[in-house]
Amino acid sequence: MGADFVAEAGLGDDLGFVVVDKHTMRSAAYPDIFALGDAAALPTSKAGAVAHFSIDVFVENFADYAAGRPLPHAFDGHTNCFVESGAGKALLLDFNYEVEPLPGTFPLPALGPLKLLAESRFNHLGKRAFRWIYWNLLVRGRPLFLPAAMSLRGKDTSHLTAGPAATDSTTPVPTF
Ligand SMILES: Cc1cc2nc3c(=O)[nH]c(=O)nc-3n(C[C@H](O)[C@H](O)[C@H](O)COP(=O)(O)OP(=O)(O)OC[C@H]3O[C@@H](n4cnc5c(N)ncnc54)[C@H](O)[C@@H]3O)c2cc1C
Repeated sequence: MGADFVAEAGLGDDLGFVVVDKHTMRSAAYPDIFALGDAAALPTSKAGAVAHFSIDVFVENFADYAAGRPLPHAFDGHTNCFVESGAGKALLLDFNYEVEPLPGTFPLPALGPLKLLAESRFNHLGKRAFRWIYWNLLVRGRPLFLPAAMSLRGKDTSHLTAGPAATDSTTPVPTF
């Protein structure tokens, strides 16, 4: 559940999460309010990656918002997460609002070194390394060098079952 004050303020849905445009994180009820991270009712996982990538997009939009201009950047729902599968192995998932988790390599096409949607020892080591990355880079505000928008590079798109293909660029969104 979200916070009671969100519902009491008329900002939230039935669970107390702030109802927002899923591309700009802007409140549907109050256009001067943005909700980032778990507080937002985005149609994706409550995950640190979602908070991270959506905040990247929000920051890109903020100067335009403050100047009263349309918001040019759109969050695509980019999410990734490790899934520990035991025996020293893990899977890695990378997906967005439109594209389901696909097999492939991450972050480099063919080279990886992480494998998508498949168990590997390296994925498990990647998960363990992320602890260091989190506390020494992300928490200190240092860049992760991963684009906010999900990329299809290195992914096997023959497994796509539905929905429009993702792009490496952001999509302009309508303004309020
Ligand atoms: C057990 C567990 C495991 C998880 N594992 C993963 C994982 O492996 N990978 C992943 O990507 N995500 C994981 N998540 C999810 C991830 O932690 C959250 O998605 C992420 O922390 C959301 O960030 P946030 O800044 O929106 O919220 P939070 O990190 O919850 O930050 C909100 C902050 O606001 C503060 N706060 C609350 N109310 C008030 C108030 N009234 N006034 C002032 N401050 C207030 C809170 O104390 C808190 O510090 C996990 C979550 C849990 C609980």
